[in-house]
Amino acid sequence: MYRIRLFAIRHSRSFEWIYKRVERVMIALDPVLGRIGYERVERPIALVEKCVKTVLFDCKMCGQCVLSSTGMSCPMNCPKQLRNGPCGGVRPGGFCEVKPEMKCVWALAWDGASRMKGGAQIHTVLPPVERNLEGSSSWLRVSREKAAHLREAREKRRTAIADAFPDARKNEPSAAPLAEEPTRATKGNK
Ligand code: SF4
Repeated sequence: MYRIRLFAIRHSRSFEWIYKRVERVMIALDPVLGRIGYERVERPIALVEKCVKTVLFDCKMCGQCVLSSTGMSCPMNCPKQLRNGPCGGVRPGGFCEVKPEMKCVWALAWDGASRMKGGAQIHTVLPPVERNLEGSSSWLRVSREKAAHLREAREKRRTAIADAFPDARKNEPSAAPLAEEPTRATKGNK
């Protein structure tokens, strides 16, 4: 497992690419997942996520995945579970203070991040882990959140146009509509 973890860090850029594609698919599936019910798909998707990520990253299913910000090195494998960089006890050669046979998770994170396009994210300070989310699917949480942001941005854009042309909206509502467009009515979705 440890070797696969090291492999994932060495290939963090490829995993970053794969993760982005998977995320796009999940976001595109938002209407379907929403119709089925996110609570219904939570368990099966969390199970798939657990299987895939346990093999690749030694994932502990904390529910708030930060791999994109940690060079694909899971910080929950740090014996002290530090989410923001190493402790002061890193041994020479970058080995862990508690488990000397293992490289420090954060030394690996730095290495992985340096290979990634979005590697600068490692500088972002991460919040503490919310233990009540343990075992839940990060994939679903992230894609649902991003899909909601996209919906909100679309809504804001429409409202801004309608607000900027109040007379047109009154006389010709179809020129500055406020109602959500059905998918087939928008060119990009045909
Ligand atoms: S950060 Fe959390 S969800 Fe991501 S691989 Fe580590 S334990 Fe799993």
